[in-house]
Amino acid sequence: MKQLVIATRNKGKILEIKALLAGLVDQISSAADYADFPETVEDGVTFEENALKKAREAVLFTGLPVLADDSGLVVDALHGRPGVYSARFAGEDAGDAANNARLLSECQDIPAEQRQAAFVCVLAYVTPAGDERLFTGRVAGRILPDFKGEGGFGYDPLFLVDGFERSMAELTLSEKNRVSHRAQAFLKFREYLETIELREI
Ligand code: IMP
Repeated sequence: MKQLVIATRNKGKILEIKALLAGLVDQISSAADYADFPETVEDGVTFEENALKKAREAVLFTGLPVLADDSGLVVDALHGRPGVYSARFAGEDAGDAANNARLLSECQDIPAEQRQAAFVCVLAYVTPAGDERLFTGRVAGRILPDFKGEGGFGYDPLFLVDGFERSMAELTLSEKNRVSHRAQAFLKFREYLETIELREI
């Protein structure tokens, strides 16, 4: 595929997504490459709604095919929170540090055996011709009682990946891009692109 716009300014997401798209797209740009890229109001109650809204607005703005990632952390004992509010768990303009502090404080009384959680990623692929597709990925894990690791972004240092003895922030970029929610969703997106390219649409 020749050109694709990634509708995000999140540096952590952009780094991972560019690696996940390696060899698949000739020219990738992101919201960070445009001065006045639209700031979508993420008022949906599902990842799907927000991803589609971001992608549709970005297609109108760029006139190019767009991929939007809406993702977040779902904690069982918090009844699915922070969920779609992951980026603003500690308030509208909260950054990773404040959101992580809020997660630690909300989880402090949750016993070890009830700390199940998952990262969820929904990708919306929207084209100027009106084609719209959604791809979902999920990775299960547990919320740690304290920070572990320096890599990744967001809640990675507080998320112990099932099947690993390490937090998401202790994985290398290529390890994270093999197991993460985003990696799972991109696998499905890749498969989809391969089917349409076979049909040469
Ligand atoms: P969005 O930009 O509305 O999709 O918000 C995503 C938020 O979910 C981020 O700001 C992070 O807090 C969290 N998040 C999503 N993906 C990841 C990840 O791979 N690692 C850690 N946190 C993530």
